[in-house]
Amino acid sequence: MKIFLKTEDEIELMRKANRLVGKTLGEVSRHIKPGVSTLQLDTVAEEFIRDNGALPAFKNFPNPFGRPFPASICTSVNDVVVHGIPDSNVLLEEGDVISVDCGVLLDGYNGDSCYTFCVGEVKPEVKALLDVTKKSLYRGIENAIAGKHIGDISWAVQSFCEASGYGIVKGLTGHGIGKQMHEDPPVPNYGKAGTGILLKEGMCIAIEPMITLGESLIRLMPDRWSIRTRDGNIAAHFEHTVVVRKGKAEILSSFDEVEQ
Ligand code: MG
Ligand code: MG
Repeated sequence: MKIFLKTEDEIELMRKANRLVGKTLGEVSRHIKPGVSTLQLDTVAEEFIRDNGALPAFKNFPNPFGRPFPASICTSVNDVVVHGIPDSNVLLEEGDVISVDCGVLLDGYNGDSCYTFCVGEVKPEVKALLDVTKKSLYRGIENAIAGKHIGDISWAVQSFCEASGYGIVKGLTGHGIGKQMHEDPPVPNYGKAGTGILLKEGMCIAIEPMITLGESLIRLMPDRWSIRTRDGNIAAHFEHTVVVRKGKAEILSSFDEVEQ
């Protein structure tokens, strides 16, 4: 495993890339309403990212099946957990949830963040899933401090979500991030406290709970990207890129723009 600790200069570049991700999610959020297609959201994101001098990091991102990702953001609606491909035929409906995952490459460094949005009014149990998933992300971040272990983050997320009876998706993880979108170490959303890689100041990691309203099993769709829950239940996904510090992690991405 090769973990790159970032210098303060590199962290400043990571901060800029991740701030742009936060602004892009904010821009996209203003367009989320019934009748809008996920491809329209992708167009909004791509233009905003390029207008700000960055590249959409997900565009043409390779997968193990030799299929480059065809769009700039992942738009995962309802039971799609992650990697939903923006599509002119997928129109948002009242009561849907949509996870918008965004990555940018700016001045050689990557930003990565995801937020799950409600389309109008959603069922109370779905709202609760979103609230708990987002809170679990911050529980994880509280443990992203020098001297702790990756397993402390994992256990914080897992224990918080399981207390509400939710499913923890296990085939997908968070990750180190820097010059590459995905670097070591993996950051699972389940695990044992006190185990795994020792966290050191300057480690940049993306923490991203993917949590379901039912069981945790997933299936890959024929497009070889979209991943749905096997039981068809709703999934939520929140992600921040953070830098491990002594005492308290610094969150490099931001939900401020989407929550304004
Ligand atoms: Mg992401
Ligand atoms: Mg990520």
